[in-house]
Amino acid sequence: DITVIGSNMIDLITYIDRMPTEGETISAPSFSMGFGGKGSNQAIAAARLGADVAMITAVGGDEFGAQQLDNYEKNGIGTETIIRGKANSGVAPIFVDPTSDNRIIIVKGANEELTPEALNQFIDVIQSSKLIVLQQEIPLETNYRAIEIANEANVPVLLNPAPAVSGIDKDFVTRVQFYAPNETELATITGMPVETLDDIKEAARTLVKEGVSNLIVTLGSKGVLWISPDDAKLIPAHKVDAVDTTGAGDSFIGAFANFYVAGESIPEALAHANDYSAVTVTRPGTQKSYPTAAELNR
Ligand code: ADP
Repeated sequence: DITVIGSNMIDLITYIDRMPTEGETISAPSFSMGFGGKGSNQAIAAARLGADVAMITAVGGDEFGAQQLDNYEKNGIGTETIIRGKANSGVAPIFVDPTSDNRIIIVKGANEELTPEALNQFIDVIQSSKLIVLQQEIPLETNYRAIEIANEANVPVLLNPAPAVSGIDKDFVTRVQFYAPNETELATITGMPVETLDDIKEAARTLVKEGVSNLIVTLGSKGVLWISPDDAKLIPAHKVDAVDTTGAGDSFIGAFANFYVAGESIPEALAHANDYSAVTVTRPGTQKSYPTAAELNR
């Protein structure tokens, strides 16, 4: 029902006391590996909630690629739409210092092989979906092509413009049903301040005037703002003790997609996505922190 077209990465997380200086070798206290990439995270969140998810992505021909395929299978996502690329799998070496500040390097690798032409073999999959979910960790031309294929069959598209590119892209904002940045991305796209809620609303209205039908801005612990040409709602987040907010935005998008496709109204699906993401921030890790539907209900 949901087709995610996007990235997958292997997160290589090194917990450091400090960064080494040039030419220096140091040892670090610990290391952990995790499945990541915005596309993969969103697909896994929706699948854990029980959605029927297809994932159009490219993994490398290396050992990490094999692990990615295995991760999708374990989460009930078929591998028929997964391309085995020539490059290395996408990786993200991440350095976390004792104050929890992150330094992240992204090596896109095989994700760059998810080209517009590569989508031609999946036109049926895209056009028979109930919702297409996109982010911006694959070539933007691939997103344009995905939207074109979806629009031809009147299949709605949700674009999470992350990482954000500065400037309002008319081809995106006027042709997707849902445009879903977080507040930082909203600032980058519009070039407007997002210090206060009023600033955020102002920037959001600008995007709606440019043609966004449903703008969904996630606001971290403040919740989520939804603005359409004839409606606006702020749905507050749950008050929880957050321990790790990595991947919160992706969990939100995946959960919203699941609830919306299941037939909920937009505000209902947003409220349920808030519930879902609140649970993920109380647990460590990215995909590791995403609950199943049964865990969420508990
Ligand atoms: P991103 O990960 O892109 O920065 P946000 O920080 O906006 O995304 O978080 C996405 C969603 O996750 C929020 O809209 C909210 O539902 C939930 N969330 C994030 N941080 C918290 C928090 N500290 N407490 C409760 N919910 C949170």
